[in-house]
Amino acid sequence: MGHEIVTRGHCLSDARSKVVIIGAGFGGLEAAKSLRRARVDITVIDRQNHHCFQPLLYQVATAALSPADVAWPIRHILRKQQNATVLMAEVRAVDTGKRLVQIDSARIPYDYLVLATGATHSYFGHDEWAEVAPGLKRIEDATRIRRRILIAFERAELAADAAERRRLLTFAIVGGGATGVEMAGAISEVARQSLAMDFRRIDPTTARIVLIEAGPRIMPALPENLSEYVRRTLAKKGVEVMTSTRVVSCDAHGVALAHGRLDADTIIWAAGVVASPAARWLDAEHDRAGRVKVGADLSVPGYPDIFVIGDTAVVTDQPGIPGTAPPAKQMGHYVGRLIAARVAGRRSPPPFLYRHMGDLATIGRHDAVVKLGRLELTGFLGWLFWSLVHIYFLIGVRDRFMVAFTWLWDYVTFQRGARLITEVPPAERN
Ligand SMILES: Cc1cc2nc3c(=O)[nH]c(=O)nc-3n(C[C@H](O)[C@H](O)[C@H](O)COP(=O)(O)OP(=O)(O)OC[C@H]3O[C@@H](n4cnc5c(N)ncnc54)[C@H](O)[C@@H]3O)c2cc1C
Repeated sequence: MGHEIVTRGHCLSDARSKVVIIGAGFGGLEAAKSLRRARVDITVIDRQNHHCFQPLLYQVATAALSPADVAWPIRHILRKQQNATVLMAEVRAVDTGKRLVQIDSARIPYDYLVLATGATHSYFGHDEWAEVAPGLKRIEDATRIRRRILIAFERAELAADAAERRRLLTFAIVGGGATGVEMAGAISEVARQSLAMDFRRIDPTTARIVLIEAGPRIMPALPENLSEYVRRTLAKKGVEVMTSTRVVSCDAHGVALAHGRLDADTIIWAAGVVASPAARWLDAEHDRAGRVKVGADLSVPGYPDIFVIGDTAVVTDQPGIPGTAPPAKQMGHYVGRLIAARVAGRRSPPPFLYRHMGDLATIGRHDAVVKLGRLELTGFLGWLFWSLVHIYFLIGVRDRFMVAFTWLWDYVTFQRGARLITEVPPAERN
């Protein structure tokens, strides 16, 4: 089990409650911030040293932004919050009887525990596909996908055989949700605009980009007219959209479909998610996606001091809450307020109520769809709105400026500044 670590903020007394927050994503960070004035000692534990702004990861994966534009050290974000301590460690287990969190080498005691460990890709029982069909979740995933896309063009330039060249210039994206659509649109722009003039033996604009969706339409969370708009816009960008098409397996040379096969060098997985193993740590009831079933105050039934939020939770009486950033932030804020009220001896806030802000997705350069209540925006107006929202939510002032400047520059010049191929592992070398 290792030794016990008791972390304490600056100039704080022993009598204060210990709040442990696992995960510094959207939910966990918001919980920590909303406890900034509470008389508690907070320990934020994350296996990464940075908070990642996942909505812009696809721009790193397609060389529009650099990793440092979309991720920030957690320590830096919480540097001014004196009651918060940050630990970089992987949580392995929770002992709910002794109230201890087990990290690699030590145990952390808690009075209140907030689990905000997010979700990861689901390969529907075929984890062996992960190697050939990476998903997009972390910075490492984005740089790996970027490397594969760029290397595919380089290898195609070298290929002597026409069929092999064709396979190298085919990109299969599995899953027609927001991430799949964003990736397909962005890869098409890499091929048709950014790289168009850079090669001599191949014509990058002939690259085949195929978006494969098992359901009858892409972007099923949007109303039918907007989902059709997205399909048409992708088609104009040269993306082939295959709906009602199930992928039955992935290998190093392409994907096998329920009816036929698609040879492709680059496969990107954007088809399913599964929650972190928090339910297993707590031995708690969960849904099919592994999300812990929580009550109206986001606590785990039977454990009034343990809360699960964000992508790891399903609120039993509000089952339709999407796995996106706004609900994770709202849940984090709510739990912070609730704990602050309890330690101060005040009345707890009313049950958590999710407020849906709307749906947005970009389809590439100057095109996006936005649905906010009855308001629907598409095209350039939609993209402008999407850009403003994403820049607004970026954490540091410098990053807001850098991202805005990089986008503006790319927009004017069609360039993608982050096109470096680095750290190629032996398995991906020629
Ligand atoms: C590619 C992509 C694009 C997206 N685009 C959008 C979008 O446009 N709009 C939108 O609203 N949402 C989007 N989402 C979804 C959104 O990012 C998630 O819903 C949101 O991040 C969930 O927040 P969370 O706090 O639950 O988890 P996360 O933000 O995923 O944070 C979980 C944290 O827990 C840490 N962690 C996990 N396990 C452990 C462990 N065992 N020990 C220690 N630390 C651990 C992780 O390192 C991570 O920092 C996107 C997601 C992805 C992957």
